Amino acid sequence: MDILSHALWGATIVREKELLPLVIGVSIFPDVGSLPQVFEVLGSYYKDHQSGIRRNFRELLADWKKIQPSEFALNFYHFFHSFIVWLEITILLFLVAKDLLVVSLIYLVHLIIDIPSHKEAKPLFPFSNFHIKGIYFLDNKWVFLINIFLLVIVNTAIILLF
Ligand SMILES: [Zn+2]
Repeated sequence: MDILSHALWGATIVREKELLPLVIGVSIFPDVGSLPQVFEVLGSYYKDHQSGIRRNFRELLADWKKIQPSEFALNFYHFFHSFIVWLEITILLFLVAKDLLVVSLIYLVHLIIDIPSHKEAKPLFPFSNFHIKGIYFLDNKWVFLINIFLLVIVNTAIILLF
């Protein structure tokens, strides 16, 4: 799912104002794993621009999906979206900062949301290549709309019930 939705889900689940910057940071942290892909796409655009190829903004967005990420970029993404890595972070938090264990929940929520809303999730990476095919939220507007609908319903219910 997109970064803003992850931040909103984090703030929906942990409703502590003093923890808000931490919750938002952890909510979007697994998407650090997407940075190599972003740099590869930008590098590709830069090379094209140097060789005289010009694109408008709409063409840039359309071409974004056509650029195949490298094996390194894919593995980097799967590493940050792995339940194995989440478990290691949770154990580390349990050992050194039990009062921040709620952060682990936010990380887990990010991983769970991304499984159905991305093309391919490898939750046991790097120990297994077991994968789950989802419906990529940028390819299907219904995934995004259902996400917004659930955010509104859950937040309305929390506000009305508590
Ligand atoms: Zn993600």
